[in-house]
Amino acid sequence: RGLQTGAQLGDAFARAVPELAVPWRAVRPEAPELLALNEPLARELGLDPLWLRDAAGVRFLLGNELPEGAAPVAQAYAGHQFGAYAPRLGDGRALLLGELVDAGGRRRDLHLKGSGRTPFARGADGFAAVGPMLREYLMGEAMHALGIPTTRALAVVATGQRVLRDDALDALPGAVLVRTASSHLRVGSFQFARSLGEIDVLRRLADHAIERHFPELAQSESPYLGLLEAVIAAQARLVAAWMLVGFVHGVINTDNTTISGETIDYGPCAFVDAYDPAAVFSSIDHRGRYAYGNQPGVVLWNLTRFAESLLPLLASRGPGEPGAGESGSGPVDPEPAKQLALGALDRFAEIYSAAWSDGMRAKLGIAGTADARRPVGDETLARVTSGLLQELHDHGIDYTSAFRALGAAARGDEAPYRALVGGEPGAWFAEWRTLDPDASAMDAANPRYIPRNHLVDEALEAATAGDLGPFARMLDAVTRPFEARPGFERYEQPAPPGSSRHVTFC
Ligand code: AMP
Ligand code: MG
Ligand code: MG
Repeated sequence: RGLQTGAQLGDAFARAVPELAVPWRAVRPEAPELLALNEPLARELGLDPLWLRDAAGVRFLLGNELPEGAAPVAQAYAGHQFGAYAPRLGDGRALLLGELVDAGGRRRDLHLKGSGRTPFARGADGFAAVGPMLREYLMGEAMHALGIPTTRALAVVATGQRVLRDDALDALPGAVLVRTASSHLRVGSFQFARSLGEIDVLRRLADHAIERHFPELAQSESPYLGLLEAVIAAQARLVAAWMLVGFVHGVINTDNTTISGETIDYGPCAFVDAYDPAAVFSSIDHRGRYAYGNQPGVVLWNLTRFAESLLPLLASRGPGEPGAGESGSGPVDPEPAKQLALGALDRFAEIYSAAWSDGMRAKLGIAGTADARRPVGDETLARVTSGLLQELHDHGIDYTSAFRALGAAARGDEAPYRALVGGEPGAWFAEWRTLDPDASAMDAANPRYIPRNHLVDEALEAATAGDLGPFARMLDAVTRPFEARPGFERYEQPAPPGSSRHVTFC
């Protein structure tokens, strides 16, 4: 019946933790139209792009016609939103269709956003607009091309229905985003499981997370401490990668912090133009909680909430043995568990710094090479980068352009960087030049084409009005971010001077 792909959708999550899964169905739009299909990703998933473009394929993408045995669910989770705890968030407008095994043998979630109200919708409508769903597609593919772990869009399907949004005067065209992720487990999933007060649910969730993301831990002596350490490391590396490319997530609530270490939920996100640790793009982040420079601290804060959620497991005497809070096990001293958690959290700064320093060495062409040079030491690196970043901040210099201009300087042409500074660079610059930076290595580390805010706006406005041309062209640019291509020059240019502060909405 239409389903010729042989795709199987598993329900491992729902079977592991039914307490966190509400069986639900996606709405069936009357006039769906496929707006964007990620063909390389489709092939990776073992899905035939031609079939997906067909009416039956589109019904599959929308969750309206699923293979036998598929059991879509809305996932329950809690979360701290801007620091305030919300005990019951969950997929208000999203559904986990199921898990499929990709061509490389990895299990991947197939997930919908904008597929209608669920029991977690609270007052909201359950729908999504074309613009934000294409934004998630574009930003996710840009991040993927930059080598940053991320959930990815498989497709965006217009529903033919219109949705009302506070920030728009007219109703907007609606859409469903189909996305993949190595899982949709979040810090908020663990907060929710912990709040149920049954260690058994928490343990099944943790075991499921270990099986999916860190299977080597299953046999270790302390798998739950191992899980905490592994998530801390994955998130520390992720936020370092964000900082290195100038990415501002915008809404790093604990429900938007994954266990896998993938970037998730591209809402009010943006790449910084002028370098500024205080840069904020979200219309609702009035206090700058999620400002560019605050991101590492916020991620650590979220990981601390994760550690708290895991405390009962850290206190338990071992896998399969009774733990804190379970009847019949006698009192368990919570102090050792706290010490373990604090010890794990203490390592965040070290892992983050190492990842950031390695990345910065690559961006500055001073990472060393196998044959000749040794990487530049920490003290020199700190002096050079603090001089550079201060200069970028003082002069409001475009972050991405600055590193490209430094690449030219490494080739001996200092003019582009001097033009950005509008004068003489600081002392750091001369010191960096003496380190003999490797220009080709810099070209491979510093993107030319990123989704620049003014161009993202332009592409999404056109798409909302029915013209997908600018979206497709921009996607083409940012999915090959390092490669100079004629005709793509405008994606390399900073925003024209005097353009208004970029603001994004959820
Ligand atoms: P987000 O900020 O997009 O990560 O979403 C936070 C919470 O609000 C999640 O529980 C979402 O499912 C829910 N939510 C956001 N927008 C909608 C909507 N239009 N309808 C129903 N729930 C929504
Ligand atoms: Mg979210
Ligand atoms: Mg400032």
